[in-house]
Amino acid sequence: MSTLFKKSSPGREGVWPQAPSQDLGELLPEGLLRGAPAGMPSLSELDVVRHFSLLSRKNFGVDSNFYPLGSCTMKYNPKFCEDIAGLPGFARLHPLLPQLPRGDELTQGALEVMYETERWLCEILGMSEFTLHPMAGAHGELTGVLTIAAYHADKGNKKTKIICPDSAHGTNPASAAIAGYEVVSIASKDGIVDPDALAEVLDDEVAAMMMTCPNTLGLFEKNLPKIVEMLRSVDALLYYDGANLNAIMGKMRVGDAGFDVVHVNLHKTFGTPHGGGGPGSGPVGVCEKLVPYLPVSRVVKDPSGRFHLRYDYPKSIGYVAPFYGNFGVVLKAYAYMLRLGREGLIKVSENAVLAANYLRKTLDDVLEVPYDRVCMHEFVASADKQSQKGVRALDIAKALLDKGYHAPTIYFPLIVKECLMFEPTETESKETMDQFVADLRDILALAESDPAAVQAAPVTTPVGRLDETRAARNMEITDDM
Ligand SMILES: *Cc1c(COP(=O)(O)O)cnc(C)c1O
Repeated sequence: MSTLFKKSSPGREGVWPQAPSQDLGELLPEGLLRGAPAGMPSLSELDVVRHFSLLSRKNFGVDSNFYPLGSCTMKYNPKFCEDIAGLPGFARLHPLLPQLPRGDELTQGALEVMYETERWLCEILGMSEFTLHPMAGAHGELTGVLTIAAYHADKGNKKTKIICPDSAHGTNPASAAIAGYEVVSIASKDGIVDPDALAEVLDDEVAAMMMTCPNTLGLFEKNLPKIVEMLRSVDALLYYDGANLNAIMGKMRVGDAGFDVVHVNLHKTFGTPHGGGGPGSGPVGVCEKLVPYLPVSRVVKDPSGRFHLRYDYPKSIGYVAPFYGNFGVVLKAYAYMLRLGREGLIKVSENAVLAANYLRKTLDDVLEVPYDRVCMHEFVASADKQSQKGVRALDIAKALLDKGYHAPTIYFPLIVKECLMFEPTETESKETMDQFVADLRDILALAESDPAAVQAAPVTTPVGRLDETRAARNMEITDDM
């Protein structure tokens, strides 16, 4: 497919923008004016519509195909959430409106949505307060770690380290390092955190431990009470990476289990897709003693039932995002919670866990599952056996593309050789999963009989195998797709 620039034909036009009524030189400082036109392509409306319609068909999405990308929760998100987020009363609110005289009055509805969403997240997770500001999961982690740092600084604690188990999500050590901590990694045992390994590194300089739960093997951490007690003994805090809340929602409250900080990804569990490159939201919840350090602004409800934004929190870590975070994503989460209700949210996690276990059990005779026990919302298999015959996890993932599937996550977590991480999510039917298993079995049989055929995949996609590192760094846009 050609680019719009190549299709451009001088003089062809699709829209006729109104000429400004004033000379631009009077509206803008001279230094900001272009010396020459921007060089935009000239196209008819039809050129543009066809171009993007054809491109969209080359895209892969949950709306058309199964997308078992582990750790990413690529589930179907109901369209009514988009309708709610698009309501003009919300979509046309200007973010500076609350700063204007009468601003509170004009934004009561939006403030109420934020307030209620925070309350519900507190209820679901067992935390004292939430902030909706962080704009992604990893951003939530950084916000949470900065809150922890502010707490220790305020108490006069000298803390320099954060512990991350080797089964933690990769963003955990990255967030701790960006916040200025030394990251201490501990090896897991039998797929979960090993209290003995923790005891070896635990000392007074430990500020916190960050746990991904379920961890990246899709396993629930069984030693939580012991781990909580050990960290408490050195005044270290517990951080819960709850990005994959669809594994435990309605079944366990993170605060009740002794965690001090948690982030959740609204763009995985609550009605917004993850991985589309679009906006996200990673709200952070904290226990009572961390409330003073939360970012500003905060939404409060006065005794008369009206909502306001407050900024006067002297111990706050300050701003972490412009305005109030990604309000549209929060709104979709609110609509999703309201529509599903308590019972529905519990069913989400039951079905997510059921689907993952179904897939695991129907595959484990052909694909090794190193920790083959009840998993949570996802599981990790290994193609180590196949790789000895030359077919690696990468080849299997590529062969799945030819069958019309998105590949699973591969080579993550790092602690399993040739790993493939599958997350079917709660929205897939048994029929879809059965078809997927049948197709994957065909690929694994082909790996035995004709490994070269699997190594040659994909052959049906717009482009075949690429040097992916080079392709990302050195993008070449071709005309012949
Ligand atoms: C997705 C994910 C994150 C990061 O979330 P982003 O919104 O992509 O920054 C962190 N932890 C876990 C366990 C995740 O699955």
